[in-house]
Amino acid sequence: MSKGPQRIRGTQDIWGEEADRFQAVVATFDRVRRLYAFGRVEVPVFEATEVFARSIGETTDIVSKEMYTFPDRGGDSLTLRPEFTAGLCRAYLSEGWQQHVPLKLATHGPVFRYERPQKGRFRQFHQLDAEIIGSDSALADVELLVLADQLLRELGIGEGVRLELNTLGDAETRDAWRAALVRHFESHRADLSEDSLSRLDRNPLRILDSKDPKDRPIADAAPGIDEYLSPAAADFFAQVTAGLDAAGVAWTRNSRLVRGLDYYRHTAFEFVTDRLGAQGTVLAGGRYDGLIESLGGPATPAVGWAAGIERLAMLIDVPGRARPDAVLVPLGERAESAAVGLLAELRRAGVACDMAFKGNMKKRMAKADASGARFAVILGDDELDRGEAAVKVLGTGDQEHVKLAGLAGTLRGR
Ligand code: ATP
Ligand code: MG
Repeated sequence: MSKGPQRIRGTQDIWGEEADRFQAVVATFDRVRRLYAFGRVEVPVFEATEVFARSIGETTDIVSKEMYTFPDRGGDSLTLRPEFTAGLCRAYLSEGWQQHVPLKLATHGPVFRYERPQKGRFRQFHQLDAEIIGSDSALADVELLVLADQLLRELGIGEGVRLELNTLGDAETRDAWRAALVRHFESHRADLSEDSLSRLDRNPLRILDSKDPKDRPIADAAPGIDEYLSPAAADFFAQVTAGLDAAGVAWTRNSRLVRGLDYYRHTAFEFVTDRLGAQGTVLAGGRYDGLIESLGGPATPAVGWAAGIERLAMLIDVPGRARPDAVLVPLGERAESAAVGLLAELRRAGVACDMAFKGNMKKRMAKADASGARFAVILGDDELDRGEAAVKVLGTGDQEHVKLAGLAGTLRGR
């Protein structure tokens, strides 16, 4: 037998229990984001390449080596989104959403990065995303963090995940810290990985984020940001932590935490677990006040986060399988054709149901049992003649005859 085409490396075909988990993560996010009054938004899967190049930064891993970039048939350079934030900010500018600030947005969907596939790391993966555009208040940062915390709790993984929090300060703070980091790393030049040597000139903060074991001791010994915090930046951070404490969200300080993207200012955070090996960050984000300007828009403060759906899905318990309320078991040709109409009627009345139409009575009942449904609706010629069906409670074996007119109500438990 020919195997046929295979899926592309780093992509996934998700089915069964894995799909149930995935869907449970999305459904929980959708429920929780409504509690916080975040509006749903949809944006394209691809954008002009410059949308990402200008905002995420040419020196980041994403732009320098992870993007899926291609010329379209008209010769324009397009890129499959490697994250949501840049596209949402582009939409904010091009759709005139400025009039709605502060804008609280939520979305989810596939994102694409050319990375080395491994457990919890794919080339097409999926993110949940939440952003507040147009607020410079620390309360916006707090709201996003409390939302993230509630999401993780409602997914049942709050206990095993910790919030690591840092501030990257304002421009003044960042420049001073950057200079101190360059001095530190320069003095360890000989021991740094090749990647980090090239980061030293272009993007020294990123060395702190290096996963190379060679770099880790040097990065861990690097100066933290606190010494360089301007009073305004320190005050902003104090407001964020006070808000988290007021909301009862636990956090730990990590004064060397940086984010992979260039645009972060002030708040930066990651929710991390030890349960996923090297791919332990499940949700990450921060404040990105400079991004919209880098896209050519007016100075606009904003803050947001993204979470890996696959990584969250790996951590949650298997959700209860969606079970039909009933399975129709028609016996004989006449019943079979009547069952088609009855099935449509029941579904229109809001009863989740399926039909067993293969094999003998025994096979059909076995299918009804396996479905996990509460009821089997047995339809034979005698029942049809009387305008009835035999409804069997699969758990107990109890059976009664029910008029077809009242069937939907019985099956819905009313
Ligand atoms: P990492 O350090 O793991 O590469 P990142 O800093 O590149 O993560 P972000 O850009 O912050 O990740 O993306 C937000 C979240 O998306 C991550 O915290 C993670 O849960 C998830 N994520 C990132 N890259 C991948 C991937 N290749 N496959 C699956 N999930 C991913
Ligand atoms: Mg990455």
